[in-house]
Amino acid sequence: MSVEPKFVYREPLKDVYPRVGKFSDEIVKCIKCGLCRAVCPTLIETLSESQGARGRVSLVEAVLDGRLSLSDIFDERISSCINCKACIDACPSGVRVDDIILAARAELVARGRLPFFKRLILRGLLKRGRLLPPVGKLASLFQRVLLALSPKGSALRLLLPAVRIDRERRLPVFASRSFREQVSERIVPEERKSGLRVAYFVGCSSNLLYTDVATATVEVLKRLGVEVLVPREQGCCGTPMFNAGDFETARDMARANLKAFDASAVDAVIVTCASCGLALKREYSAILELDTSGFSEKVMDASEFIVKKVGVEALRALPLPRDGENEVVTYHDPCHLKRGQGVWEEPRQLIKSLPGVEFREMPEADRCCGGGGLYSFTHYEMSMAVAAHKAEAVRETGARVVLTSCPSCIMQLRDTLARAGLDVEVSHVMEFLYRRLRANEAATVLETSIAQQRV
Ligand code: SF4
Ligand code: SF4
Repeated sequence: MSVEPKFVYREPLKDVYPRVGKFSDEIVKCIKCGLCRAVCPTLIETLSESQGARGRVSLVEAVLDGRLSLSDIFDERISSCINCKACIDACPSGVRVDDIILAARAELVARGRLPFFKRLILRGLLKRGRLLPPVGKLASLFQRVLLALSPKGSALRLLLPAVRIDRERRLPVFASRSFREQVSERIVPEERKSGLRVAYFVGCSSNLLYTDVATATVEVLKRLGVEVLVPREQGCCGTPMFNAGDFETARDMARANLKAFDASAVDAVIVTCASCGLALKREYSAILELDTSGFSEKVMDASEFIVKKVGVEALRALPLPRDGENEVVTYHDPCHLKRGQGVWEEPRQLIKSLPGVEFREMPEADRCCGGGGLYSFTHYEMSMAVAAHKAEAVRETGARVVLTSCPSCIMQLRDTLARAGLDVEVSHVMEFLYRRLRANEAATVLETSIAQQRV
């Protein structure tokens, strides 16, 4: 009597699922040890195996083996990953869980599973870069009117969930003029003392929402004697697109950016957003399979550039405030800067080099804040649950200022810390540096004017 085997080995369905099929060797590297379970923020919050790194890899493996279909629940589990990359750090086999998950999202998008809300933002808006400044202006006007008409507790706030915004959420207000509309394409310092020239990849958040970050970056670099180019034709880096699995749109964005920047003409391409930096340094080639040689090696976070290329001695030579009480600050590591790019010492070196600043390390400074760009809009509850740990860590430091290097983290931290009742400033490192410089410049102007009046 023959016995039916319970398990029949089947070849992975690479032809049916070519995007995840490319990662079949990566998937089998996972030995299911579970070491990633202790660090995955979505698993920690839900205690559900399928909401963790190992569970997600197993689900993708099951699809590739033909044991599971691309169902709604599969979609939900794959979409709930924040792409924080904590699992990669913890994994003894070096499994690129992030790449596997993004490939699974690409399979979903290839079957038309890109939600309308994301399609509208990614293909309708972010892809059409020229639409962004006028839309930003309209949004700015709308927000200001809405905020004026709907203070906390107003009935008008009940409309916000309809546009996927929690009614208590603290959101940034769009700038009435985008940063790139405010600056010229070439900013030459009075003294080119560093002899360096950079091209600035501004990114959507610093261009439309946090224009102070971009202004501060240019002003600090000017004072350090660095020439700054702001190429006109740059657009969105493509991160929101490939994070959603829309690789085709992301590739269009990446190609346009590679064309807009002549990396050979500059010493570095600087960024002030951790996700933009990761996209330009790694993801354009690793995920989108584009040739970025000659470009990605030049990409640097702004603090990385100052520490490595200009030197903190040049920074110390600037007129920074030296008297008065020390400002107590702490630093939050953006996932895409520390784990994504291996940059974590440089922002700390920069902060610690500032006179009049006391740096206090927060516990688990590199724990994800739950922001994840669009993630905090599509998964707000999870994003806030993850963020709650960050609020406690900040509270423990007693710092009055939390610094970071990514606008997405700034948005998340401002909302989280305000909700936790913490009265702390949240700023980008470059913004903080510029604020310190300006404080001293203002004091010097005042002293000079008083002295002149006395003469
Ligand atoms: S990237 Fe972060 S959220 Fe996603 S599976 Fe890994 S640890 Fe979990
Ligand atoms: S730590 Fe790595 S090998 Fe272990 S279960 Fe997680 S992904 Fe798999």
